[in-house]
Amino acid sequence: MRLYQEDSYATRFQARVVRAWSDEQGHHVVLSQTLFYPESGGQPADTGVLKREFGQVRVLYVFEEAKAFGDVVHRVDGPIPEGAEVEGEIDWNRRFRHMQRHTAQHILSQALLRAGGYHTIAVSLDSPVSTVDLEEEVEEAKLQEAEALANFAVYADYPIEAFWVSEEELARYPLRRPPKVQGQVRLVRIGDFDLAACGGTHLRTSAQAGPIKVLKWERYKGGSRVYFMAGWEALEDYHAKHALLSRLALSFSTSPLELEKPVRRLQEEVYTLKGENLELKEALVEALLPRALEERVLLVPAPVLGDLAKRLLSWSEKTFLLLSPEGRFAALGPGRQEVLERLKALGAKGGGKEVVQGSLPKEKVAAALDPSLVR
Ligand SMILES: [Zn+2]
Repeated sequence: MRLYQEDSYATRFQARVVRAWSDEQGHHVVLSQTLFYPESGGQPADTGVLKREFGQVRVLYVFEEAKAFGDVVHRVDGPIPEGAEVEGEIDWNRRFRHMQRHTAQHILSQALLRAGGYHTIAVSLDSPVSTVDLEEEVEEAKLQEAEALANFAVYADYPIEAFWVSEEELARYPLRRPPKVQGQVRLVRIGDFDLAACGGTHLRTSAQAGPIKVLKWERYKGGSRVYFMAGWEALEDYHAKHALLSRLALSFSTSPLELEKPVRRLQEEVYTLKGENLELKEALVEALLPRALEERVLLVPAPVLGDLAKRLLSWSEKTFLLLSPEGRFAALGPGRQEVLERLKALGAKGGGKEVVQGSLPKEKVAAALDPSLVR
């Protein structure tokens, strides 16, 4: 018996183990009744514990042996014998979040239908950022309208109820989408806003699902995929983003909603400075070239070390050693490996093919500036 369909707010229950087995997946039990929701319909499984008189096992995953009407199987982290009496307790924090995601999805799917005639064909509620896949490609304005409609439905505080009807009675109900199962069908009604066939767990009222925030959409399989967050998780997302924007705003001495201006200015400055920097480096390399060709062991600023080495490579076949005041070096020419060996004696590390590069301790730079190294 699926107790979660009777009362989605109950967290504890008593049950007997009616089947138990172990295989390569782990230990499994089927209970006489359960509050544990098995993964289905895009809603993730519950987790929790099964307590016995002495000790307990953790419920790691719950699934259906056969879709909708098969046994609910609990994968647990230790064996329990058949016939054992257990007290089950679900992880309520996890479940409540799932109920918020799931109920919000019902509301949003109806809102998308009303705002743009968009039909939900698949959902994923596995993570705080949930998705609904739509048959159609959405328009941005319609999507915003759907978000507003969904939150109006939240504020309307509609009661939510689940009830069973027979297949014959089904025609009397204007369902958002037809059921996938046959026989007795469970319907879920959100006030006069939404009616759908569903076996999942739902909140008592639409208000508990809010806020509902659409994050973005993208084209997907000829239709679109809409990303959203709901309930606590939407609030947590708001908190994280607000904290981030506030920190950034503080560092720019502005307010969060005024951040774009200084960031744009910073990007432009960086772009300009990069261009200037490139020109200055090129000019410096050209200015250093005659001296480098003559002296062959030279102290140069680190930012032009590599460029100057490349320039020398195209100008001369002799051996050169360039050093920066911080200890970076580049050696090139036929004697570069010998230069590297001698620098290693000073504590240098490095390697490379045409140009040997690396670094040595700063205090050894003066000792390394020895013209005899390249003779
Ligand atoms: Zn549902």
